[in-house]
Amino acid sequence: MTGQMMSGAARRPTRSLLVRNADVLVTMDDARREIAHGALYVEDGRIVAVGASADLAEHADAADEVLDLAGHIVIPGLVNTHHHMFQSLTRALPAAQDAELFSWLSSLYPVWARLTPPMIETSTLVAMAELMLSGCTTSSDHLYIYPNGCRLDDSIAAAQRIGMRFHASRGSMSVGRSAGGLPPDEVVESEDAILADTRRLIETYHDDGRYAMLRVAVAPCSPFSVSRPLMRESAALARSYGVSLHTHLAENVHDVAYSREKFSMTPAEYAEDLGWVGHDVWHAHCVQLDDAGIALFARTGTGVAHCPCSNMRLASGIAPVRRMRDAGVPVGLGVDGSASNDGAQMLGEARQALLLQRVGYGPSALTARDALEMATRGGARVLGRDDLGALAPGMAADFVAFDLRTPQFAGALQDPVAALVFCAPAQAALSVIDGRVVVREGRLTTLEIEPVLERHNRYARALVLAD
Ligand SMILES: [Zn+2]
Repeated sequence: MTGQMMSGAARRPTRSLLVRNADVLVTMDDARREIAHGALYVEDGRIVAVGASADLAEHADAADEVLDLAGHIVIPGLVNTHHHMFQSLTRALPAAQDAELFSWLSSLYPVWARLTPPMIETSTLVAMAELMLSGCTTSSDHLYIYPNGCRLDDSIAAAQRIGMRFHASRGSMSVGRSAGGLPPDEVVESEDAILADTRRLIETYHDDGRYAMLRVAVAPCSPFSVSRPLMRESAALARSYGVSLHTHLAENVHDVAYSREKFSMTPAEYAEDLGWVGHDVWHAHCVQLDDAGIALFARTGTGVAHCPCSNMRLASGIAPVRRMRDAGVPVGLGVDGSASNDGAQMLGEARQALLLQRVGYGPSALTARDALEMATRGGARVLGRDDLGALAPGMAADFVAFDLRTPQFAGALQDPVAALVFCAPAQAALSVIDGRVVVREGRLTTLEIEPVLERHNRYARALVLAD
């Protein structure tokens, strides 16, 4: 990548940007155009024009900055629909390496009970850096544990500092072990406090406008850690503000068994009974969603965050993504929390989504372009965004470029679009969020990451050594 600063650029911030000469530009627009020698012109965080470089040459004089992307592929910024960024502090912990969901959680809850506000901010910065350096431009995060004064504000501060587009989900746990839930009593909150804090966060931070950099979602953790009234009241609260709803659902067979035993319903029936279906709802995992549940989700436009690495790591099973897509369920991809992945790269997730569907349902279950679509416009739809996930005039200027002149793509250039998914996950050479260059030549421009990593590793050691 070579940058060419145009005259005047040094005196004012970059408000207009032309990228050109990309080997291929994947639009993910309604026609799914893939443009050879592609170019993109951006003004004030919005895409003005997309096309062949020759057709956009007129914008070169007006642009504050012009970037030549010969040798690169450009795609819409990847959209991550499920994460728990604080878990970056507890990756690959020996005690939780070889467990299924409930025992994995039970071994980690006491460690997470020692989290502090600076740990939340630092781990969120690290998780976002990892995502951004590998091509993700929008992420949701699901923070559901608030010990020692931790607040969702700590995550939001990190997003604003590093410059990532963010959907901050106010998670919660209210049913501790003594009341029949899974988490220990010391990490649950009162339901009144949860609802009051959720209301505060929406009123303080939520931006419902087009091109919003920050939205808030309402996100009780899971059916096995909150009560039925909290699920209902959360839905009513979210809908009174027009914000989205998010939780975990039907993650594995034990999760389904808990639902049948406690509520005498399948997870999908429980979600419907609570009002947790609709275009404004997305559920993580849904590995064990049955056919009736798939039909319900399709009928109501309820979204799914598919997290294949986490599902394999915890041996949860193979989510029926092929059947969901055929039925018309909106499906996006999520890396899930760093303690059950433990790497957060959206192209890696797209690759595993493709591979895992094939293990379950045969070699044509998912194509590379299907997987890339779920990682971009599929995720945008799941998050309720019609301004993200595709490169077209009027969309937000979120896009990323990968250098095709690297060993991992050598020999795969007959189809560089498929190569992005089939070959090893790549690091982004360039990332632009809201029209701002946040990764340039593979380095973050918004943050010096080394001191953050040093602090993060110190916190991670402290959390474990306290045992
Ligand atoms: Zn999760």
